[in-house]
Amino acid sequence: MKYIGAHVSASGGVENAPINAAKIGAKAFALFTKNQKRWVAPPLTEKSIREFQNNLEKAGIQADMVLPHDSYLINLGNPDNEKRAKSLDAFIVEARRVEQLGLKLLNFHPGSHLGQIDPSASLALISAGINKAINETDSTVFVIETTAGQGNNVGYKFEHLAEIIDSIRDKSRVGVCIDTCHIFAAGYDIRTREAYNRTMDDFNTVVGLKYLRGFHLNDARSEFQSRVDRHNSIGVGNIGTDAFRYIIEDPRTDNIPLILETPDPDIWAEEIRMLSSFSGK
Ligand SMILES: [Zn+2]
Ligand SMILES: [Zn+2]
Repeated sequence: MKYIGAHVSASGGVENAPINAAKIGAKAFALFTKNQKRWVAPPLTEKSIREFQNNLEKAGIQADMVLPHDSYLINLGNPDNEKRAKSLDAFIVEARRVEQLGLKLLNFHPGSHLGQIDPSASLALISAGINKAINETDSTVFVIETTAGQGNNVGYKFEHLAEIIDSIRDKSRVGVCIDTCHIFAAGYDIRTREAYNRTMDDFNTVVGLKYLRGFHLNDARSEFQSRVDRHNSIGVGNIGTDAFRYIIEDPRTDNIPLILETPDPDIWAEEIRMLSSFSGK
């Protein structure tokens, strides 16, 4: 079964996200559980949590098909101790909100070495942060997103993800989300069936398919291997429609959230319909 959706707005409260997802025919969705550009947020109210869960049920969307995304400010790989501690505190708050909402996954960008330490040292800091967050929370699965490798960001090579996961003590609490635009910009081709299969086989060899917990479906305005992160609507970017057909046809993407982060919310319903038609189910 395919679960396709989009990163919907939670404006006015998290309880609005499932309503927005239902409106576009989504069977999965992503959301920010707080303002993604701020460090702190008021705690979730009982009312908001209850309404979120009611609306999720009404939308017929399973909790496992919701892929919350953390704040853009958080950098677990920050070499500065004080700043990294602030990031980790915010990260743990995000995970607790996920658990309060009855959800399971928390998607995040691994981080940046800021040009101050080598990537490997930054990856070790990220692993340490995840281990700490696992200890301080009950059940959240921390889903590391593949990045485009823009600037000093780590996570643009499958080897980076493997290195992070290798140092996680409880591996049942960690996963990976493949972002198509990001891997394409990072140099993993998916434009032909052969290239797509090679990339997925590479992912399986280096990271392991058992860690795959979600996909971000984005075409790319940026070029192949450009390490620039610019999303485009499905079929009008440099990746093209075929790649998304291979992804949807692939049984390896069954039963995980497949989330659009494409730039035009007005055509999400249409994009979901088109992608769903590829599954033939
Ligand atoms: Zn993404
Ligand atoms: Zn992106």
